[in-house]
Amino acid sequence: EPTSSSNFIKTIIDEDLASGKRDKVITRFPPEPNGYLHIGHAKSICLNFGLAKEYNGKCNLRFDDTNPVKEEDEYVESIKEDVAWLGFDWGKEPLFASDYFDQLHEWAIKLIKKGKAYVDSQSAEAMRENRGTLTQAGKNSPYRDRSVEENLELFEKMKNGDFPDGSHILRAKIDMSSPNMNLRDPAMYRILHAHHHRTGDKWCIYPMYDFAHGQEDSIEGVTHSICTLEFEDHRPLYDWFIKELEIFAPQQIEFARLNLSYTVMSKRKLLQLVNENYVEGWDDPRMPTVSGMRRRGYPAAAIRSFCDRIGVGRSANWIDLSVLEDCVREELNETAYRRQAVLNPLKVTITNYDQIEMLDAPNHPQQEEAGTRQLPMSNELWIDRDDFMEDPPSKKKYFRLGPEREVRLRNSYIIKCDDYVKDENGEVVELKCSADLDTLGKNPEGRKVKGIIHWVSAQHAVKVPVRVYDRLFNQENPDKAENYLSALNPESLQETFALAEPSLLEAKPGETFQFERVGYFTVDAKDSKDNAPVFNRTVTLRDTWAK
Ligand code: ATP
Ligand code: MG
Ligand code: MG
Repeated sequence: EPTSSSNFIKTIIDEDLASGKRDKVITRFPPEPNGYLHIGHAKSICLNFGLAKEYNGKCNLRFDDTNPVKEEDEYVESIKEDVAWLGFDWGKEPLFASDYFDQLHEWAIKLIKKGKAYVDSQSAEAMRENRGTLTQAGKNSPYRDRSVEENLELFEKMKNGDFPDGSHILRAKIDMSSPNMNLRDPAMYRILHAHHHRTGDKWCIYPMYDFAHGQEDSIEGVTHSICTLEFEDHRPLYDWFIKELEIFAPQQIEFARLNLSYTVMSKRKLLQLVNENYVEGWDDPRMPTVSGMRRRGYPAAAIRSFCDRIGVGRSANWIDLSVLEDCVREELNETAYRRQAVLNPLKVTITNYDQIEMLDAPNHPQQEEAGTRQLPMSNELWIDRDDFMEDPPSKKKYFRLGPEREVRLRNSYIIKCDDYVKDENGEVVELKCSADLDTLGKNPEGRKVKGIIHWVSAQHAVKVPVRVYDRLFNQENPDKAENYLSALNPESLQETFALAEPSLLEAKPGETFQFERVGYFTVDAKDSKDNAPVFNRTVTLRDTWAK
């Protein structure tokens, strides 16, 4: 198992272990179940679970389900599936913030009793106004000095459902003139008469993120609570609650979130793409979601190696989509079996060959143990239209077919183009070729033939639907456009078909192949049926073959 690269978080952990501040490492991945996971979450998953693995510790999967309005079980299920698919294990059961609601409520009462929290009854507008600005101190609420007894009574009534939404709020009593806005008496609990996906109608008050997150970490004994940089300003508040509650103190550490070019990652935007049918769902193969990438055919190992490659730092983390695509190619080059399929067919007749042969073709050129499959050869073939030119450039630069030129048919014979046929529009519709029958599995005598092209036998070929996916956005930073929807790539999906070698009919959902010289293609797990695969283009091939 290769250990991942070093980063500043590991340096902190190493120091904590060396100094005795910690004797183990416990991390967590805390998604809010309000959407599907995307590649940014994958970075956080690889980081948190990766550290736990490397330090022989533990990483919890904790659903941060403190906001009942947007959360759903569907998201919980998809998140579990995605984390497991990425190759990580959270132990017996995932954890839920909502399981700590009783404890959080008790802690709120503890702070009220300490005089560190109060019920505010200002209007939302007044509260906003009195909060002040970055350059102007806030004003104390007229309710700030309520007695402990009054606060306890009001908070109890809030909990019992005696008040409508928004009429009261529980706030921490910290400092309305703090330069850190997060410390200006932040909200701890709000009234929300909403059904929760797990606790049902038990509660009509719900804790705010800031009052919940650190305490959840503390309950779980999280040693290093890793989050993205926008929470840096919340750290003093995180620490304040822990200190005032006198409970185990995890350490919050921030890192730069992943930004990927040609992609949007805000859940709000991804949800809009789904709800307004710009894509076919959260798992549309063009989506930057883990489920979309899985369906597209990205291997989990490629996503893990991507997350390791991009590293972890504290400065803005803009990564080009091509880095991810390269990781996918590298992984698939190792693992994907080779097949032959033609997307843009041109007919070839072999004039001196009048038989059907079953040729043995290796599944993987570098892996003998991968075995072979049978590839039927006959006198009528399909090749790719791009592999013939009527008037090709010099022989030194062009290694495909042209008049009087030779190429090798991959896994088969060398053929020579003797003649070609045009239709009434002047388009070439058929090549007449002769095969050198002495070149199966061996080189010809006295000449070198550099070009190799893919092909399928016409009578054996199976016609399979192919979805050629491209980037969902055609602008590098769609978030920069006035409306990110205007950056959608109208050509992100082309539905076509391939003429494929017959063995591909048996391809199983989720299996990925390299269509030689074309790209990597994955059997769609949703739309394929038995013996009727539908292929998604996973990623293009860097064409390393001589052209
Ligand atoms: P959004 O703000 O779009 O709702 P989120 O960040 O709130 O997304 P969460 O479910 O709260 O989504 O995130 C779970 C974890 O994943 C958090 O710890 C968060 O920091 C991390 N995360 C989310 N997006 C990224 C990203 N782009 N890069 C790295 N980590 C991320
Ligand atoms: Mg969120
Ligand atoms: Mg967030």
